[in-house]
Amino acid sequence: MKQLWCPWRLDYILGPKPDACVLCLPAHTREDEDRLVLRRGTWNFAIMNKFPYNNGHIMVSPLRHVMDIDELAPEEYDELFRFLQASVRILKARFSPQGINIGLNMGEAAGAGIREHLHFHLVPRWNGDSSFMAVMDEVRVIPEHLRATYQALKPLFAAEGRLEQGEMPCGCSKSSC
Ligand SMILES: [Zn+2]
Repeated sequence: MKQLWCPWRLDYILGPKPDACVLCLPAHTREDEDRLVLRRGTWNFAIMNKFPYNNGHIMVSPLRHVMDIDELAPEEYDELFRFLQASVRILKARFSPQGINIGLNMGEAAGAGIREHLHFHLVPRWNGDSSFMAVMDEVRVIPEHLRATYQALKPLFAAEGRLEQGEMPCGCSKSSC
């Protein structure tokens, strides 16, 4: 496959690697927009992948720095799967993909880029774009700008959060609405 223009991935390949874990969020939320954090829950968060393999590539990760899915407490695990489900709903609503790859690379040998901190990838797919392995391994063209995608997805994640807290889609909290 040809290498395509994809400057953010080049930054990642050539740039200095931060020592700190990029998936360990600070307690404050001041940097959330810069970091492209879409939503924080009690135990987990959703974030845009800054070096995406396809348009709408997001990640869901526990807030706690754990390496292995086996280390998750039941409440972390339950919320993580609710986050994955909400993310799927949002990607369907925004991108109308024909499929979504949901993947977890656990350990360096499995190809995990940030191997110390567990994270699920969600990559929207369209018929004919390329195989799953090509998406995970090679540079792709991203037609929509990363930050524009972030601005479009963030309110959808906020709405999912409100729904989970029992609010109705219209914004009121009455079950009779
Ligand atoms: Zn971490």
